Amino acid sequence: MLERQIDFAKYSSIKLGTKLNIKIAQDIDEALNLATNHYLIGKVNNIILHSDGIRIFQLGSEFDYIKDLGDLVEIGARSVSKKVFLYFKKNNLGGVEFLGSLPGTMGGIAKMNAGMKEYEIKNIIHSICINGEWQNNEKINFQYRNSNINGVISALRLKKIDGFDSNLENLFKAMRLNQPKEPSCGSCFKNPPNIPAGKLLDLAGLKGHRIGNMAFSQKHANFLINLGSGKSKDAIDLINMAKSTILKSHNIMLECEVVII
Ligand SMILES: Cc1cc2nc3c(=O)[nH]c(=O)nc-3n(C[C@H](O)[C@H](O)[C@H](O)COP(=O)(O)OP(=O)(O)OC[C@H]3O[C@@H](n4cnc5c(N)ncnc54)[C@H](O)[C@@H]3O)c2cc1C
Repeated sequence: MLERQIDFAKYSSIKLGTKLNIKIAQDIDEALNLATNHYLIGKVNNIILHSDGIRIFQLGSEFDYIKDLGDLVEIGARSVSKKVFLYFKKNNLGGVEFLGSLPGTMGGIAKMNAGMKEYEIKNIIHSICINGEWQNNEKINFQYRNSNINGVISALRLKKIDGFDSNLENLFKAMRLNQPKEPSCGSCFKNPPNIPAGKLLDLAGLKGHRIGNMAFSQKHANFLINLGSGKSKDAIDLINMAKSTILKSHNIMLECEVVII
């Protein structure tokens, strides 16, 4: 079994955590075996590592591929969004234009039902291989920035829709220009039904609020950013403080989009 050391303070998008030895699954049997007592990560664009006692694994390069199946495109779960975006663009296929502006592996993206605006990965998924078995899209309960997928996603089959949309690509690129450049996980909280989480944080005076070197960005309050050598504990304290403040001020319980492990 392969192992590698990851320094989460460098590897994770929010630059938090410590050095850990993690296991690498080279085939589905290894992955299913590891999943019994290890936590599966993708590229750690949506995770805050808080516990250093956790056992972690990642899918190996065997899960990084793109295969044309005729009517569908099959993609290994370790493949990164940019690679899939470029493949679809090159082949003039639509539906994943947002993947050019959204970091992650296809496993993480499917699990999180990631997307931008009304464009979500569930719209283009035909089926997903979960714990070694293919399941059709209709059988999976995709929610806003989450899904009921429980276990190892090893591959996805995406629909082929004619026509890559460059206007959409540009729209998503433009959205990123207004967002903070400091290390983050993207949005920290999910948007409650009738009001964006960023607006709530702003109304509560939490825009720019800082504990240690972690802060809610001045540019966009729902981005929890690392100002340099921030600590996971400060991130968690800020999240908990924001939740209790918004509960008191608006009677709304904010739900994390970011996954804390
Ligand atoms: C700057 C920035 C902007 C972002 N903007 C957006 C945005 O606009 N919209 C959006 O939706 N997200 C956004 N995100 C969040 C992130 O891009 C997505 O959540 C993405 O899906 C994370 O993929 P990952 O591979 O890094 O997953 P990780 O962060 O490693 O893991 C996320 C979750 O997926 C699970 N997981 C990972 N791989 C697998 C697998 N193979 N099988 C089963 N479960 C798995 C993990 O256990 C974990 O629960 C942003 C992040 C950043 C840093």
